[in-house]
Amino acid sequence: MPESVCPYCGTTINAATNFSGSPDARPDPGDVTTCMSCGKHSSFDADLKLVPISEEEMASLPPELQRALALAAIFSSITTALKTLQSIKKVTAP
Ligand SMILES: [Zn+2]
Repeated sequence: MPESVCPYCGTTINAATNFSGSPDARPDPGDVTTCMSCGKHSSFDADLKLVPISEEEMASLPPELQRALALAAIFSSITTALKTLQSIKKVTAP
């Protein structure tokens, strides 16, 4: 997938994973994703660049996809919290 930037936090994104489990799956325009740096949701435009997704667009998604995106956001938060804790340990270690 082409490199893109999260429209919320500016993190460069050059890879994506999917729920199908297929290593060959690629995002299509209109697909929704979750940034693993900030946990915000965005969608891929026609050039597969990330653009913000509105609350109305989120609400129109199938409920199972909304739940999956919410879980991805939680996973992002946990990952960020663990990285923060690890960085604190490094600072305070003798
Ligand atoms: Zn982000």
